[in-house]
Parts: sequence; structure tokens; C-alpha cells
Amino acid sequence: MRYDVAVIGGGPSGAVAAAELAKEGIATVLIERNLGNVKPCGGAIPLGLIEEFSIPDTLVEKKLSKMSVRSPKGRMISMEMPNGYVGMVRRERFDSYLRDMAGRHGTEVIEALVKEIRQNGNGYTILLSRDLPPVEASYVIGADGANSKTAVELGFPANELQVIAMQQRFHYCDTLKPYEELVEIWFDGEVSPDFYGWIFPKTDHIAIGTGTEFRKHNLKKLQNRFVEKLGVAEKPYLDEAAKIPMKPRKSFSQEKAILIGDAAGLVTPANGEGIFFAMRSGKLGAQAMIERIRNNLPLKTYEKTFRKLYAPIFFGLQTLQSVYYKSDRLRESFVAICEDTDVQRITFDSYLYKQMVPAPWSVQMKIFMKNIYHLVKGS
Ligand SMILES: Cc1cc2nc3c(=O)[nH]c(=O)nc-3n(C[C@H](O)[C@H](O)[C@H](O)COP(=O)(O)OP(=O)(O)OC[C@H]3O[C@@H](n4cnc5c(N)ncnc54)[C@H](O)[C@@H]3O)c2cc1C
Repeated sequence: MRYDVAVIGGGPSGAVAAAELAKEGIATVLIERNLGNVKPCGGAIPLGLIEEFSIPDTLVEKKLSKMSVRSPKGRMISMEMPNGYVGMVRRERFDSYLRDMAGRHGTEVIEALVKEIRQNGNGYTILLSRDLPPVEASYVIGADGANSKTAVELGFPANELQVIAMQQRFHYCDTLKPYEELVEIWFDGEVSPDFYGWIFPKTDHIAIGTGTEFRKHNLKKLQNRFVEKLGVAEKPYLDEAAKIPMKPRKSFSQEKAILIGDAAGLVTPANGEGIFFAMRSGKLGAQAMIERIRNNLPLKTYEKTFRKLYAPIFFGLQTLQSVYYKSDRLRESFVAICEDTDVQRITFDSYLYKQMVPAPWSVQMKIFMKNIYHLVKGS
């Protein structure tokens, strides 16, 4: 069977891209290796994403406006978002909803592993598992995650900075009851020497997880320490782990192919947020693909647009991580700065709608001086 576009990978990026293309009458196939996939993920999404993609309330299990941040010495800062919330979704439900949506718009969904991609004069021949016949497509979108087979097969540059993260799901118990209605983040070298630990509640479980740079530290030990420090004696009922690619690839567009979401490395440093950027890149990538098919415009406009919109956010968060995530002394300073209500407001506003929110000059100066003070003082 021949298609205009083959989207490889049916996570949020691939499902959104396929839906956008099919809506416009482009013959689209979505190839997902496992339609029952449970992607290891905290499932925290910002209000801006929920609004933009009309995510139904039934999928948003929690709407959390309370957050607390804990420092290495145990200092707790409690915050409240005045203008929004973090939504909590379960990926097994979320991803299948998005894939069904792509199907409803006319995408053909195939369950198979992509084993090989051969370039030919007309586009691509995609070889599949399960003895299924190859798929022919004029264009390819690689949405197959951090270890993207598409990227390897089509010779894209490497996915560089990778964090490996693990998460355990616990049933609610007395120790975890207090976490039912808030997001809690731990900055603590014993929990993560270079990232952070999180506690994210869902309707029927609490997800506790941590991350660290790939191949640098013993992730399982860090996770065990985190659970121990929380005083949770109960056993988890699910362990999950995966890489988080927190640096955009040097290039993620070619003449007839693009990468989106984790396959392109589009997860922000410092907070490891990827669902929003997966879905936005899926949408932008699909729009560029439509322009390529209809008006012969180059696919690199997709990459340019993405970088123009989000490079400042990636740069800002990369700087924050490089400065503050290096030692417990610096993490202590970071948490101290979080106490400032202007810092909280700017952070929440930027998080919810992914726009750098300009602050008045006086506020910028105050935050700058506080940064210097806490960095020098170390708390
Ligand atoms: C532990 C952990 C916690 C996280 N928590 C959060 C969070 O709270 N909030 C947030 O915003 N982000 C979080 N992230 C990041 C987020 O999960 C990713 O950024 C997001 O899933 C990227 O979506 P995607 O569609 O690009 O890729 P994926 O969701 O990885 O989807 C890729 C899909 O491709 C399929 N696939 C792979 N190879 C093939 C192949 N060869 N053939 C066919 N199909 C294939 C896979 O089965 C998968 O369904 C977390 C990540 C981890 C690891």
C-alpha cells in the first residue's frame, strides 16, 4: 500500500502529526509497535496543552494548583498557581485517545515494529515486523522516541544529552495520602545528583520517580533512597524506566523526512518536560509536511519555526540546570530563590503557556540580586 506520509511511532507526537495530516486529506499511515504501550512517564501536562488540544476532562485525572519544592536540607517551599494548574494524565489512556483521534480523522493505524527504512526514487519503503507487507510512502515522520530507529536509518545526527529516568507506581497508603492533591519536587543529591525527584498523584496511584544523566549513576539506588526517605514501606506495583532526550538534535529535518518529539530530542532541560513539545512539534511538523506536499515548500521551515518559538526556553532551562543542579549547596540556593513570589509567578506563567513572560525591570533586578545573594551564601 502506498501513502503520502508514514508516521513512525504512535506516542503523542506521532498521533498528533497523523491527525493533522489526515484532517487535510493527506493519505497517512501511523505505525506503532505496540498499541497497548505504557510509556514510562509522569504524565504532567500544562493547562496550555489541555486547552490547545482540547483534552477532555475525563483524561485529566487531577488538576493540581498546589506544588511544594524540597531542598537537600529539608526546607519546604509551598506554592500555589493562581491562574492555572498542572494536569495529570495516565499515558496508557492519553496515548490511545490521541491515536484513536488520528484514526477518526482517516489515518490508517498499523501495529508493527519498523525494522528497516529504504530510500528509493519515490520516497521510502518501510519494512515491518510480523511478516506484514512493506509500506511505501513519499515522506516519513519519525516519532519513535528517544532511541529513534527512523533517525538511525535516515542518518540524522545523534540524540545527545540523555537522562535516564525511572518511576514506580504505588497504590495509595497512609504515608502517601498527604500527596494526593499536590505536585512535590525534591532537589536532593541523594535522590538525584543532577536532576530531581518527583511525586505525582493520579486517581488510582501515586507515581514516584527520579532521573540522572545516562550511564553516570546507579538509578535504581537513587530511586530506592528516594522511596526510603519518603518513608514508604509499601511495595510498588509497577516499575518503569526510559531515556529522556533533553537536547534538540543538531538537525531534525531533511528533504523528505522530519523527526518530531523525543525522536528529535525536544524535551526541555531542568524539568524534563516532553509531552507539550512532542505535540507541538507534531502539529508544526504536519503543517510543514502539508506545505511540502501542496506547495513544494521545504521541510526545514518546520525546524526553523520550532527553534524560533522554543529555543529561548530551552536555553533558559539549560542555563538553570547548569548553574543550580551541580551540588547540594547550589540546590539549596535554588530552592531558597523559589520562595520569592515573583519568581513563582514568572515560572508558573511560563510553564502553563510556554511563553517567556517578561518581568518589569525592577522585578528582574530584585531576582538577579537574590540569585547572587543565595549563590554566595549557599542557601
Ligand atoms: C520516567 C519519565 C517521566 C516523564 N515525565 C514526564 C512528565 O511528567 N511530563 C512531560 O511532559 N514529559 C515527561 N516525560 C517525557 C515524555 O514522556 C516524552 O517527552 C514524550 O513521551 C515524548 O512523546 P513522543 O511521542 O515523542 O515519544 P514516545 O512517547 O516515546 O512515543 C514513541 C512511540 O514510538 C513507538 N516506537 C518506537 N520504536 C518504534 C519502531 N521501531 N516501530 C514502531 N513504533 C516504534 C513506541 O512504542 C512509542 O509508542 C517523562 C519521561 C520519562 C522517561
